[in-house]
Amino acid sequence: MDDRLNQPLGGNQMPRFGGPATMMRLPSQPGADGLDACFVGVPLDTGTSNRPGARFGPRAIRAESCLIRPYNMATRAAPFDSLQVADIGDVAINTFHLPKSVDIIEAAYDRIVASGARPLTMGGDHTIVLPILRAMRKRHGPVGLVHVDAHADINDTMFGEKIAHGTPFRRAVEEGLLEGRRVVQIGLRGSGYTAEDFDWPRAQGFRVVQAEECWHRSLAPLMAEVREQLGRGPVYLSFDIDGLDPSVAPGTGTPEIGGLTGIQALEIIRGCRGLDLVGCDLVEVAPAYDHSGNTALTAANLLFEMLCVLPGVVYRN
Ligand code: MN
Ligand code: MN
Repeated sequence: MDDRLNQPLGGNQMPRFGGPATMMRLPSQPGADGLDACFVGVPLDTGTSNRPGARFGPRAIRAESCLIRPYNMATRAAPFDSLQVADIGDVAINTFHLPKSVDIIEAAYDRIVASGARPLTMGGDHTIVLPILRAMRKRHGPVGLVHVDAHADINDTMFGEKIAHGTPFRRAVEEGLLEGRRVVQIGLRGSGYTAEDFDWPRAQGFRVVQAEECWHRSLAPLMAEVREQLGRGPVYLSFDIDGLDPSVAPGTGTPEIGGLTGIQALEIIRGCRGLDLVGCDLVEVAPAYDHSGNTALTAANLLFEMLCVLPGVVYRN
């Protein structure tokens, strides 16, 4: 191991309930310069339509991440043996002004992307993926997308507004941020505004995998097909925690029954290994509805799993 690489503070150096309140108790630094990957929070929830509170997501995820050890025992991934990783803190959004916040987020990700670091984002509501994808396109061109969610998030407007947590992928298509035939949405379900709600993404070329197709089965075969579909180009992974069943992840703003399991979440993320992931996010954790902390704990572990499948990670096998 290269001893110049940052390491999470170990549980034998400082009790896990002490030490820095960063993601995985990693060192913090003010920007992404010199990093291969960075954890970054976006504490925004002014785009939510129902229960608020995702502004507290990054802090709760960091708190629950204190238990995560550096090696992945299932995949033998050793991300901190080959990548320089740090927690670069939170984006200073304007909590009184959603459109201004979107511009602030885009500018912050312009800087991250320019540094060459791959961002692992802690949301925040799903509005934040639009400015992130805007920044990604400037560097990578239109990207492929793995989108896990109970919802398609392709509404044209919500309450008359173009910018909200249920509209980002409609805007992303309109703005040419995505390659439609390299997009998959997994876990969609529940009730819609119209019976045709999931037809619009299909008409854009997206593969839509509704939750019912996932029930009672491993998603490893699906992910083999997804890797085939997405191929070698750049891919962004956006994971709305409400893609999981509310029994697994109750702490979120718009829960829907009949969702994915924690094991299926691991299969999806581990199934992204080999894709050119240019960034990942985990959004919509709302700690006020998360009485056990399990939602934030799950989110923290899923972010670690995302780190473990980034290009350049070594595997000890
Ligand atoms: Mn969403
Ligand atoms: Mn959702």
